[in-house]
Amino acid sequence: MNNKRITMSDTERGSLILVNKDHPLKGETSGKLINIGGEGVLLESRTAAMLVQLLKDIKGEEDITAVSGYRSYKEQEEIFNDSLEENGREFTERYVAYPGCSEHQTGYAIDLAKTAKEIDFLCPDFPYAGTPQKFRDKAADYGFIQRYEKEKEGVTKIGHEPWHFRYVGYPHSRIMKDNNLSLEEYMELIEEHPYGVKPFVFHGNKQCFEIGCLKLEEKEQEITISEDIIYQISGSNRKSVIITLWKEQKV
Ligand SMILES: [Zn+2]
Repeated sequence: MNNKRITMSDTERGSLILVNKDHPLKGETSGKLINIGGEGVLLESRTAAMLVQLLKDIKGEEDITAVSGYRSYKEQEEIFNDSLEENGREFTERYVAYPGCSEHQTGYAIDLAKTAKEIDFLCPDFPYAGTPQKFRDKAADYGFIQRYEKEKEGVTKIGHEPWHFRYVGYPHSRIMKDNNLSLEEYMELIEEHPYGVKPFVFHGNKQCFEIGCLKLEEKEQEITISEDIIYQISGSNRKSVIITLWKEQKV
């Protein structure tokens, strides 16, 4: 058995963390950042690797441009203030997150554009057709979700952003896509499935996944995971961790 100690800082990092106005990022990203293109676009390393694979799969390397990835708190603050000045408060609050509350600060978010001579930095054109749509169709298989959908504006409190994608990892991306859930809604769903008691079970890619939520009630908690199981632990940024177990599919 593997003993894993979970602390409060574990609840605040990982590819499933929810970052929005009600759930600011604590500090800066804890992920390792790498550069994914000439323009100085940085992403968390796994997010970058999956993005590169997805673009390769759809032969989208030429047609799709990465516009904006990781931003530090300071950069987000500058973008917010510049937009306030240029576009006014209503536009800015609709499309630009408050400093500390942007997914871009995690390194797991990427804004994409259809390659063009002129690209709008805040609202890049990423149409529901051609190569961008191919990207959307395959995104969930590579762990990405389109984060701000039109019909979820009431939940996410962010305007419809066809260009903004978030890495959450497979199988979470697949479950969200198939059930039409925003990350906020997915968190609420998984919180109803306590780890070790009543996990959420999902079958996909010839595997069985058990996903459970562990709410941290003390400063530190220990869990045991059997040694032959592949697992992933990610914070939710809601004082809990989401534990995903990869299990053999029983025939
Ligand atoms: Zn974005």
